[in-house]
Amino acid sequence: MLVVQKFGGSSVADAACIMRVAQHAVAQYRAGQKIVVVLSAQGNTTDDLLAKAREINPDPSKRELDMLLVTGEQQAAALMALAIHKLGAPAISLNAVQVGIEATSLYGNARIKRIRPDRITRALELNNIVIVAGFQGVNRYGDMTTLGRGASDTTAVALAAVLGADICEIYSDVTGVFTADPRIVPTARKLPAISYDEMLELASMGAQVLHNRAVEMAKRHRVKLVLRSSRYFEDTGTQVKEGSTMEKLLFSGLALDRDVARISILGLRDRPGIAYHVFSLLAAQKICVDIILQTEGSGQTKDISFTVAKADMQSALDVLAINKDAIGFESTTHDTTLTKLSIIGAGMATNFGVASAMFEALYDCGVNINLISSSEIKITVLIDAEMADRAAKAIHEKFAQLMEE
Ligand code: ASP
Ligand code: MG
Repeated sequence: MLVVQKFGGSSVADAACIMRVAQHAVAQYRAGQKIVVVLSAQGNTTDDLLAKAREINPDPSKRELDMLLVTGEQQAAALMALAIHKLGAPAISLNAVQVGIEATSLYGNARIKRIRPDRITRALELNNIVIVAGFQGVNRYGDMTTLGRGASDTTAVALAAVLGADICEIYSDVTGVFTADPRIVPTARKLPAISYDEMLELASMGAQVLHNRAVEMAKRHRVKLVLRSSRYFEDTGTQVKEGSTMEKLLFSGLALDRDVARISILGLRDRPGIAYHVFSLLAAQKICVDIILQTEGSGQTKDISFTVAKADMQSALDVLAINKDAIGFESTTHDTTLTKLSIIGAGMATNFGVASAMFEALYDCGVNINLISSSEIKITVLIDAEMADRAAKAIHEKFAQLMEE
């Protein structure tokens, strides 16, 4: 049996944590399993390195940032190998160059293109526990790139896919996937299992348990995923797999995403191609747009509202301002006092009243809805950030009641 295990930053934060993870890996190794361990940088290392870079140069080159950031994961990997050696088992740590994790060239947010499994396979055949530095790849110039914040999960799933691992275990400081963040909604429950699609929506909508590209990849390659606690190894966690419940659940979770800014373009000339014009300009700046809403303006015009990550708001406004005449609009407005609240459930599409129950809960606690968007398995609303926690509790309670009935 081949197991890929990924440990997040807080699971390897200090020497004691590293020893505990090493003991866990060695115990499984001695029970006859082949083990590949993927690591994040220790604790807040990535943030600390970013701060260090900005202290020296507030506008750092992306290439050099990646050179710096990859060292975090590499440290963790080498320290883990040393811990395993101390316990008397063979281990080797490898970075992305050594493994051969080929990635696209975009510094800071590269994507994995291909992984050559040979080096890892050989190391496993020689009975090693193999430790891989997560979060990094090598681009076609031979440079190290990073795969986006939180992307060690994606490294783990990609490795599990190419190695044909029996399971990919993602360990962190939470015991699994909850119906909501338990710090905000104390009655949140842990889900024993969840489908790929639901997990993907939860991950994309701000539940910070798993990198969304990792879920996407797991779904595509049918990698069996399980989310577990690195503190309570006896806890079975949450499995991510297809067909996990008899009936698709009406409500499997609620997520809040506070990193959102709304931009509205008012008085757009009403003609074909206008949306294409606006969003291609944003795409060229590599700005990800989330909820989009188009409404009738006055006369021959219309308005378009959309959301972006807060960090992208200014560049979005700038590119719109520069192209104001070419696009043809009157003005823009923006708002950073909003939070995105989403509910997810694979059974939503086939059940009546899910949206109305959500809106009723929001109405009951006096929350005004700024934007709404929905898909087969998700409803998202944009609401006042200050009301977000209260709204989350009210909606969670409403669905708990509904599902009891
Ligand atoms: N260390 C990286 C980060 O903090 C990658 C990861 O943790 O997955 O984003
Ligand atoms: Mg993470």
